[in-house]
Amino acid sequence: MTRAASSMRRFGSVAPRGHGIVLPAYHPSARGGRSIFPSRVFAPDELNRLLKSGHNSRKIGKTVAKGPRRGWPIYTLTLEERASCPRECREWLRCYGNNMQAAERIEHGPDLEARLLIEMSELQERHPAGFMVRLHVLGDFYSPEYVATWSEALRRFPALHVFGFTARDPREPIGRAVAMLAADFGWQRAAIRFSGQPHENRASRVIAAEAAITDAILCPAQTGATDCCATCALCWHSERSIAFRAH
Ligand code: SF4
Repeated sequence: MTRAASSMRRFGSVAPRGHGIVLPAYHPSARGGRSIFPSRVFAPDELNRLLKSGHNSRKIGKTVAKGPRRGWPIYTLTLEERASCPRECREWLRCYGNNMQAAERIEHGPDLEARLLIEMSELQERHPAGFMVRLHVLGDFYSPEYVATWSEALRRFPALHVFGFTARDPREPIGRAVAMLAADFGWQRAAIRFSGQPHENRASRVIAAEAAITDAILCPAQTGATDCCATCALCWHSERSIAFRAH
């Protein structure tokens, strides 16, 4: 790892170790659709900032390090896992959030949406050349109104560029609205992939540790070819689907 790459993120690499927490289906958090860390869920007015620097995430990184967006800051948004997600999510029981006790999850709803628009207005002022927001470290698009908030933000703040993943079905209302973000603003500004979908483009999937990959690109951070999203940039440069090996 280069010095430049290692300074992108606060924490070192953690290799998949094959023992992430998997909830039993009868676990109260699985049945109730909540995080297993309820004390780490905060109302928007309990936090100074909702959009946090990617520096705090070992998988994301602080600043884009390659390509035409080099130098743009990366921010992340973390919602409550399961509470904002579709029940159909294939990772419902093995959600990565089960292993992220320290993460600050933000309660979703109108207060979140209002605060996000205020913060993005400030980021537009501070970074007029461009900034990235990773949706969502945990959680998902939870309503058509919430997707409409992102549509409004993309319209009002030309420096805003989002990337990330959703477990929403692109044939259902929320998923359709998410797909429209890329249709309306272009993949360059709204690179949201549909998790678990079989498409060769604009999707992502988790595959078995030894499975061959023919119709997607394996996330280079998992192979050690790059350090984190900031040094990779594939998710927003390419529309090809991304595969992740199961941990
Ligand atoms: S492919 Fe690159 S940008 Fe996408 S998740 Fe992996 S490291 Fe991040």
